[in-house]
Amino acid sequence: MAKNKKKIKVAFPHMGTISIAWASALRKIGVEPLVPPYTSKRTLSLGTKNSPEAICLPYKLILGNFIEAIENGADYVAMITSPGICRLGEYGNNIKQTLEDLGYKANYIELSLYDGFKGLYRFLVQLTGRNNPIQIIRTLNIVIRKIFALDELDQALSYYRAREVKQDEAEKNYKKALNLIKNADKTSDLKKALKKGLALIESTKIDPNRDVLYVDITGEIYVVNDQFSNQNLEQELGRMGVQTRKSLTVSSFLKDAIIPKAFRKGETHLERANRLAKPYLTRDIGGDALECVSDVAYANKRHIDGIIHVSPFTCMPEIMSQNIFPAMREDGSVPILTLIMDEQTGRAGYITRLEAFVDLMRRKKRKEKAKLDLDAEPKEEEKTEETAKK
Ligand code: SF4
Repeated sequence: MAKNKKKIKVAFPHMGTISIAWASALRKIGVEPLVPPYTSKRTLSLGTKNSPEAICLPYKLILGNFIEAIENGADYVAMITSPGICRLGEYGNNIKQTLEDLGYKANYIELSLYDGFKGLYRFLVQLTGRNNPIQIIRTLNIVIRKIFALDELDQALSYYRAREVKQDEAEKNYKKALNLIKNADKTSDLKKALKKGLALIESTKIDPNRDVLYVDITGEIYVVNDQFSNQNLEQELGRMGVQTRKSLTVSSFLKDAIIPKAFRKGETHLERANRLAKPYLTRDIGGDALECVSDVAYANKRHIDGIIHVSPFTCMPEIMSQNIFPAMREDGSVPILTLIMDEQTGRAGYITRLEAFVDLMRRKKRKEKAKLDLDAEPKEEEKTEETAKK
């Protein structure tokens, strides 16, 4: 590929804000990133029209992203694959064949993330046609740091959004912060951008006394992290005064699949999953099912207000995990809401379900608080004794 003097244009599919990281990696190795328009109704309709009907939602959206990327001039479309147990292993071949059948002229290239650091390294060599270890390690360094920075901003946004005085102010500040991260392609610039970005989000005016609910989001990693496919789940919850937290993030995935053990601290998400999912699920059944089951157990342990499980319609591993939740409900009191997403998911019904869940959590919290207050109140005879002493 490098023999060709003209810079090749490479596109990856979207998943939340991930394009900020991959575009930066491509620039750093001298390849032109082609960021397709962010996933929209058009993307969904292009993907749905050309996909098998029962295939999961991420497949349709990724195919739609690729079609729009090629329409915008991409020479290569890059797909992340895995040899896993679920359908992700079949995505690559199907997408490649579909694009060919539709007559789209672009090369198709695969990045197997499950080959760890070596796989990522090989992919960059293949893309540039040069094996320049220093350049590649610098590229990987910046891309990994960017992903961690993006997740840090995301977490800060969640805190401020749930407490903001003026609706959507935190979101506006977050978007400005994303732009700072986008433009920082050196480690020193990135550190400054992150500091500035966090300060921007923290400048959001908040009501520190708001009664905020704490909810974990789990499910299939694509829909958990992609706001189009989850219909802005976290934004909607934030508006209802809910602070969200995700364990299934791109940075947690990197810790488990890419970053060598010697360079990471503490227990990773997958290590925690293997520990906590045990009584309910003893082996990996594909996708993120093991992590989801363990996330519910983790939420129960921390006695948070609720957990939302979001998955694509027909996602096999998540159908399995949903079937384990009833048993988990018997061992813990954290309410679980399951949301299944596909192209038919209507907005009004979706928001009503979220509102009802938030209402349920608030009532439960109030009831628990009232019980605690009652237990803390001195009993009638204790009161009489106290008065007598006085
Ligand atoms: S985890 Fe589910 S949604 Fe994701 S590729 Fe596998 S079957 Fe499809």
